[in-house]
Amino acid sequence: MEPELRRLVVVSNRLPAALKKEDDGWRVKAGGGGLVTALAPVLKNRGGLWIGWSGTSDPPADEDALLADFSSEAGYELLTVPLTEQEVEGYYYGFSNEIIWPLFHDLQTRCKFDPVFWRTYLDVNFKFAEVVARKTTQDDYIWIHDYHLMHQAFFLKSMGVKRNIGFFLHIPFPPPDIFMKLPWRGKLIQALTEYDLVGFQTIQDRKNFVGCLQKLMPEVRIEGRGAVVTVNMGTRKFRLGAFPISIDFNQFADMAHRPEVGQKAFELKEALRHRKIILGVDRLDYTKGIPERIRSIQTLLRRYPDLSGRMNFIQIAVPSREEVDEYKELRTEIEQLVGHVNGEFSCPGWVPVHYHYRNFPPEELVAYYAAADIGLVTPLRDGMNLVAKEYCACNISENGVLVLSEFAGAAAQLQKDAYLVNPYDMDGIAKALHRAFYWDKATCRDHMSKLRDQIRKNNIYWWVDSFLQAGISKSLGDFPEVDTVNFARI
Ligand code: UDP
Repeated sequence: MEPELRRLVVVSNRLPAALKKEDDGWRVKAGGGGLVTALAPVLKNRGGLWIGWSGTSDPPADEDALLADFSSEAGYELLTVPLTEQEVEGYYYGFSNEIIWPLFHDLQTRCKFDPVFWRTYLDVNFKFAEVVARKTTQDDYIWIHDYHLMHQAFFLKSMGVKRNIGFFLHIPFPPPDIFMKLPWRGKLIQALTEYDLVGFQTIQDRKNFVGCLQKLMPEVRIEGRGAVVTVNMGTRKFRLGAFPISIDFNQFADMAHRPEVGQKAFELKEALRHRKIILGVDRLDYTKGIPERIRSIQTLLRRYPDLSGRMNFIQIAVPSREEVDEYKELRTEIEQLVGHVNGEFSCPGWVPVHYHYRNFPPEELVAYYAAADIGLVTPLRDGMNLVAKEYCACNISENGVLVLSEFAGAAAQLQKDAYLVNPYDMDGIAKALHRAFYWDKATCRDHMSKLRDQIRKNNIYWWVDSFLQAGISKSLGDFPEVDTVNFARI
């Protein structure tokens, strides 16, 4: 079959729709986010199937009918992989989130290397692979997403099932000295070599992977250069690429242009008496550097009294993994820090830090982005960080400044026009914020317009195309040009 006519099969831990029990029965809730937005039209056009877990271990009897309704509206098929509570515990909460998540974000001391987690992860991956084997054909292109499902190609091959299969890692890949701590390092690397294409967020992630590969399999050879290279293993070859994920730029920019969103942004500024707004938006996760960021604001106010009463720091923290103790403790820590800083600096008519612990509806979030003078994005480590890109897309006045962690994947693309900081360096962040506070309009516009051009061009549709071209095309000559100069530096 012609490559461009192949059916696309997407496989991820969760389906783009979740089953939720409500007072009047079960409902299917569509998942949002750029990935679904970008993949939905591709799945619809080429014919498509999305395989994943529905989000409940105790599904209703009419689960298939509920998902079929969603499918017929969405224009592509959905297929669930049923998981028991015990499987979710070991594979999702255990292996994925207590081992791979901290390790791949360079936070190895948070890892709980429990062998039971590893075994459950393998069992669940086998279960997914069985579904993929049964429900797909050799003419399909299979695209596996993220760290929960790294063993799909390995299990399909062990079953003797041939598929054209690519994998994209949404989180960073750690350098060898960190990766080598993983008790199952050899098996994991080997599993990844079974794909036809492995995609990373940045060239640095890919370099880290190559470093690990060469340590564990010294015989491999890397051929070519640029965004996509070939790994020669002697008996077979596969591809490695860097594909920085992005956002639907126009969707965000258009929303920011809507009069009612503009009105909301104005009301927010007015309520804060037109002080400069510094904005942080994150899932409440220890990789996001929220406590460090609040301490940086404290440093800013201590070192630069000229900003007293002239700025507000707004932190939006989206609830995440709330049932996990570590996340509960982090929430308490953040709330205490906010209290400390406000206790130290508030005066009548001015409370410097505004903290929101909830999920914001898209229009409200966009109004906050549009109103903010400084986007403060300081994860300790992040695969990409879409908030950085969303902030720029929504900054339609082009008066804003993006202050960005050098350890976010986004820094590789945006480094020239963002103000890069080390998220652990509180003095450095305070200094950057103080400088950014006084940037004149022309300087802001110069940098922000370039940031916006870059994100507009390398948007989520470009990302999907790049990956699929590298995965499906026969020759790398077909591969679209990528700005490797920019993202090679970090
Ligand atoms: N977001 C959200 N609700 C909110 C605030 C933010 O859904 O109240 C979204 C935000 O628009 C962004 C995503 O959460 O698309 C966060 O993505 P990012 O890559 O920054 O970090 P992740 O949470 O994936 O680690």
